[in-house]
Amino acid sequence: MSLDVPGSLSPSKVSTFRDCALQFRFSVIDRLPEPPSPSAAKGTLVHRALELLFGLAPAERTLDAALPLVDVAADEILRSEEYVDLELDNPEAFVADARSLVERYFRLEDPTAITPVGLELKLEAEVGGVLLRGIIDRLEEAPDGSLIVTDYKTGRVPGERYEQGKLGGVHFYAYLCETALGRRPSRIQLLYMAEPVAIVAEPSDQSIRGLQRRVGAIWSAVERACERDDFRPNPSRLCDWCAFKTFCPAWGGNPDAARAAAGTPVDLRVAPTAPAALPLVTAATA
Ligand code: SF4
Repeated sequence: MSLDVPGSLSPSKVSTFRDCALQFRFSVIDRLPEPPSPSAAKGTLVHRALELLFGLAPAERTLDAALPLVDVAADEILRSEEYVDLELDNPEAFVADARSLVERYFRLEDPTAITPVGLELKLEAEVGGVLLRGIIDRLEEAPDGSLIVTDYKTGRVPGERYEQGKLGGVHFYAYLCETALGRRPSRIQLLYMAEPVAIVAEPSDQSIRGLQRRVGAIWSAVERACERDDFRPNPSRLCDWCAFKTFCPAWGGNPDAARAAAGTPVDLRVAPTAPAALPLVTAATA
């Protein structure tokens, strides 16, 4: 039985397919519910606090102004539909940790010197035959008039091996920016607040071509997988963070029950421990 091909993809779902085709099917095709996680909630909270900070006049973007915004964002996020069922062992420690991330953000840059031209900017563009949709955390104008794309990260800095892969996600945003707004950013940067560390790259013709090639190849693989209903599990250490592990056949689970409960077809033909047949294993972008 062939499956409907998704109409569009976000950069993170492209990564999901690359990492584990079955996880992609659970999330994008079956649309199985993913329980909210404290780390995702913390990321959303910190992003929201920084969005509020950049809504202030430049001179007002101080640490003293930012910390109360963490509480405002916490109140907003933890009451939202997405996170209202989130169970936190220690809500005070959770918010204190978010506050600490915002404090460390101030060691990475001076927000009073930044000219944002877009916050949480939703953009879409076609690449390799697929409609890509993404949200740029912050688009700013540099003093020389060029554009800079910034992605905030609340998790740990990737090892050298994974660094280009993480930057690959930001190259997506550079491409979205160039296609939707007609200007290629001069710089893309990932701000890892926990360390704090900034990883910076400059988009080029080569990086854009590489992105188009990779997305086109992944999209062809998605179409093939849908046509054959062949989404194989790819067990790895990432399984520890997978919301679908309990019903993943690679871990002895039964996806049919979860899928039936979600009202999606239960015809799943997977080899429980077979490696995923992926077109690409690298996300190197330069
Ligand atoms: S538990 Fe692992 S193998 Fe199974 S779907 Fe999730 S990431 Fe894939």
